[in-house]
Amino acid sequence: MALDSTPATKPAARPRKARGEGQWALGHREPLNPNERIKKDDNPLNVRARIENIYAHTGFAGIDPQDLRGRFRWWGLYTQRKAGIDGGRTAILEPHELEDEYFMLRVRIDGGALNLAQLRTIAEISTEFGRDTADITDRQNIQLHWIRVEDMPEIWRRLDAVGLQTTEACGDCPRIVLGSPVAGVSTEEVIDPTPAIDEILKRYIGDPRYSNLPRKFKSSLSWLADTPYQVNDISFLGVQHPVHGPGFDLWVGGGLSTNPRLAERLGVWVPLDEIPDVWEAVVSIYRDYGYRRLRTRARLKFLLADWGVAKFREILEKEYLGRALVDGPSAELPEKPIDHIGVHKQRDGKNYVGAAPVVGRSSGKQLSAVADLAEAHGSDRVRLTPYQKLLVLDVADDQVESLVTGLQGVGLEARPSAWRRGTMACTGIEYCKLAIVETKARGEELVARLEERLRDFDADISIHINGCPNACARTQVADIGLKGMLVMNAQGEQVEGFQVHLGGGLGMAQGQTAGFGRKLRGLKATAEELPVYVERLARNYLAGRSDGESFAD
Ligand code: SF4
Repeated sequence: MALDSTPATKPAARPRKARGEGQWALGHREPLNPNERIKKDDNPLNVRARIENIYAHTGFAGIDPQDLRGRFRWWGLYTQRKAGIDGGRTAILEPHELEDEYFMLRVRIDGGALNLAQLRTIAEISTEFGRDTADITDRQNIQLHWIRVEDMPEIWRRLDAVGLQTTEACGDCPRIVLGSPVAGVSTEEVIDPTPAIDEILKRYIGDPRYSNLPRKFKSSLSWLADTPYQVNDISFLGVQHPVHGPGFDLWVGGGLSTNPRLAERLGVWVPLDEIPDVWEAVVSIYRDYGYRRLRTRARLKFLLADWGVAKFREILEKEYLGRALVDGPSAELPEKPIDHIGVHKQRDGKNYVGAAPVVGRSSGKQLSAVADLAEAHGSDRVRLTPYQKLLVLDVADDQVESLVTGLQGVGLEARPSAWRRGTMACTGIEYCKLAIVETKARGEELVARLEERLRDFDADISIHINGCPNACARTQVADIGLKGMLVMNAQGEQVEGFQVHLGGGLGMAQGQTAGFGRKLRGLKATAEELPVYVERLARNYLAGRSDGESFAD
């Protein structure tokens, strides 16, 4: 028989020290993970001087690894994936084994607004330094590839000269501010919020006080609901207040990736001139109270989930603004997402023309051709959209058809098929070190096949192709969201494929209740069978739809 040595009463357990989430405001200043250490050791904004003065001369081999894989991002630079490494090895290899000596460079285009001098500069940089690559992203940036560190001083010189920047285009800092591609010209817009975007840029971007956040911080500021405002850390959306008039409805805490969460309204109305201050206060809350222990729990959405809307608003008002905000109504949302494709009237009687490349893929040559076409048709303004598309503004009535034809001649359709219009793809395995599968080429193949087989498909449909669970192309908010992964084919071999999320949306097509697509465990398609799979879904919809039923329904 075993002797029972358990004492009759257990000694009282020693109180355990609260673990903490690394919140600065609660005194957790010591870095709790390697990324926090890198940021604490040296402000990442300082790395531009080292690139210009040191690394541009030493070349890739001379770059400090902490700068290379950490701080470079604050200047829009990511090392690019080495060609030929399959997705099965993404999670196994060390970072240095995955990367080659070239960079992806993200040019920040807040509000998606470019004049022709800026567009031409990006086009020239692409052709001279980036092997003619230029992808329009779903955050209104342009990404170039094949960039060498040696060329960065000259690239920045050219960008600076036309008022463009790569400052905080990536990294744990305030990224690009999304804006309406038709800000200032829309017939439906009541206030053009561009001055507030400009003010945020001028005051806070590149400011060391806000350059060390727990993770990235995404912003959107638009009168119209034509940006994906529900999936940003902060969004201001136009709204009419019954007493105070036009202003903005404040949303916080949205984000996708592996723990998706839609933003929530704080229930306040913010006038245009107060937006920069309120934006700064929310960023400051995030900087001070955001979780820095685990990067997977660091986005603002986790803090909001723990605090709730009431506490968030109280801290914002009492600790940061020192005043109460005005209660506000929610904005009216349109029936369906607005992508601005096609020809539309501006408020001044001119027109804007929205045209679609395929899955955001462009090139320096194409962008240069767009600049020439815009100029020849009397325009000096181009806008990029959060749907990987492009607009030419200020076109007179008698110039429209000639411009539409010209754009078509360079591969941009102003009257695209539903497939080209609704399909987006992230960077994927061609350049992204986190990718598991190819995305852009698959997207091009998918669009081509569906245009051939279902050219007259007449419903709105969104297909978002992502190379991994990070959801850069918004997997969860598409009619058909595709998450890249390895799957088994019929022969039992592991091949590239996708988990399918069905029926997600951004709150318009579904009676104004935004929602995530259902991830159906068994619903997976190999990359090879994807076109057939999507075609089958589309044909089933066509065969079974009732009057007025959208694909999302
Ligand atoms: Fe890369 Fe994944 Fe983002 Fe695509 S979703 S760009 S593969 S991190």
